[in-house]
Amino acid sequence: MAISFGRSHPYRAAILTPMTAPTLPGPLKLLLIVPHPDDEAYGAAGTLMEYVEAGHTVGLVTLTRGEAGRSLGLADGTQALAELRTAELAACLEVIGVQVHEHHSFPDKYLIDQPFEPLVEVARSAMLRHRPETVLTFPPNGSNGHPDHVTTHRAVKAAWDSLPEAERPALWYYAGPTPPEQPELQASYLPPNVERDVSGFIARKLTAIACHRTQALSTVDFIRRFADRMVNETFHEV
Ligand SMILES: [Zn+2]
Repeated sequence: MAISFGRSHPYRAAILTPMTAPTLPGPLKLLLIVPHPDDEAYGAAGTLMEYVEAGHTVGLVTLTRGEAGRSLGLADGTQALAELRTAELAACLEVIGVQVHEHHSFPDKYLIDQPFEPLVEVARSAMLRHRPETVLTFPPNGSNGHPDHVTTHRAVKAAWDSLPEAERPALWYYAGPTPPEQPELQASYLPPNVERDVSGFIARKLTAIACHRTQALSTVDFIRRFADRMVNETFHEV
């Protein structure tokens, strides 16, 4: 069962921060900090499953409710899409076994227009409270250049930089094995230096990804371009 905050709040373009410190099962093995429901699934679900199966606690911070994404006609309007994607994410996390989840309501697609410091504080607070061994987020180019991915990278990196060196977790970025074709993305591309074979978890990983029904086009696009990353999850460790 995932621990979640803020789901009962009405959707607002504001920060939802837990009012009280939760009772936690212990320091996290891995903490993902990403902007969208589904950003946890494609590149890291197998790694999360493997850690959970080994008895570790893992966590996820999702910054938006994904209301600006595609609905494929499954939801009518941004409010309905936010609710549907929140439910899809909960189902996905149940399959993966993620124990700690914080869900914020920053505006999807417009993170870049938000005051930067509250975003940094969300990442910093999560690192301080959960004491993860490793934090995973997007690389400087956002993997695909999505402005929310790039802004999330900047916020997480700024939070990580602000911690005293001895208290910093390991920092991983999503890293595909082939450089992107677009020159502007290629310039800040970071190759993987961590590769994890998660083929033993492939059936459950596909089940987890498939929970994000509204994002079916992202799923097929990812598989078409990066089929190998379904079974080999690759990261850049800073
Ligand atoms: Zn995303």
